[in-house]
Amino acid sequence: MNILVIGGAGYIGSHMVKQLGGMGCQVTTLDNLSNGHRDAVLHGKFVMGDLADSALLAEVLHAGRFDAVMHFASFIQVGESVEQPAKYYDNNVANTLHLLEAMRIANIKRFIFSSTAATFGVPQYTPIDETHPQNPINPYGRSKLMVEQMLEDFDRAYGLKSVCLRYFNAAGADPEGKLGERHSPETHLIPLVLQAASGKRSHISVFGRDYDTPDGTCIRDYVHVSDLCEAHWLGLQSLMHGAGSQHYNLGNGNGFSVQEVIDTAKWITGKPISVLDAPRRNGDPTHLVADATRAKQLLGWNPQYTDLRTIVTHSWKWEQCQVI
Ligand code: UDP
Repeated sequence: MNILVIGGAGYIGSHMVKQLGGMGCQVTTLDNLSNGHRDAVLHGKFVMGDLADSALLAEVLHAGRFDAVMHFASFIQVGESVEQPAKYYDNNVANTLHLLEAMRIANIKRFIFSSTAATFGVPQYTPIDETHPQNPINPYGRSKLMVEQMLEDFDRAYGLKSVCLRYFNAAGADPEGKLGERHSPETHLIPLVLQAASGKRSHISVFGRDYDTPDGTCIRDYVHVSDLCEAHWLGLQSLMHGAGSQHYNLGNGNGFSVQEVIDTAKWITGKPISVLDAPRRNGDPTHLVADATRAKQLLGWNPQYTDLRTIVTHSWKWEQCQVI
């Protein structure tokens, strides 16, 4: 199989490229390196470029003869999306539209899209399955939902088949230790906690202890990056076998509070972690947990690294190799 991975130098995309390479696929990564890292692309061909560059995009798609495109390139910070919505609509929506249009012209009919739990907004019930209403509460979530809706229209009009994968909290690192999370600035809980454990940060701030949860801190469903990639692989297989467009929620169905994550990190690392209480962060729902039954039943998804301790162990192995 011949796959184009947009954003293959980023956190989840780079794990995907490695996995596709391991499965014997031909892989091309297109990435503008705004957040990604060239040395994270461990397999295949690399093209440095931006989705806004329509000439380059047309050339890459025309030359590549791809069976499918996987699209990981997007901005992902909720708070930033509230402050700079144009940046999010421009990159996450307009650039994705350019990509879909270029795919239509190049007659590429299979697309795997990184969507998010943020498309659901404030949960009406938990765990969240695919029938839960989608009412995003910030521009980031809205930008991803807009693409989901565009994909429905592209299927109806042009026969583009897509798999939308709504990640809950992507976490962990390559079990072999070759890849991991390297955002700049880092905003995600697990890498920040581990940076506090390794002494790269003085402390971890807990954003709110007054939530309606057993210990007062927010609850999230942390899902291992390799398990997310496996779901992409299964989605790709299903499209290759002629299945129609699909969307899935991806999580482990287990919620862990911010405090539980910190306690787990203390246990795994054996290091003291200094914790400061901070105000709530805007736009944080109290409790986000996935019901991934559909992915398990229809795709045969069988996540391997469901234990939070395993997820944190892999992230810690990666964190210890990082020099800031
Ligand atoms: N969080 C925190 N301190 C931090 C970063 C995150 O308390 O320095 C909390 C955040 O408020 C949320 C949870 O950790 O409840 C997970 O946040 P993250 O940014 O990792 O992912 P998100 O749920 O926003 O996608």
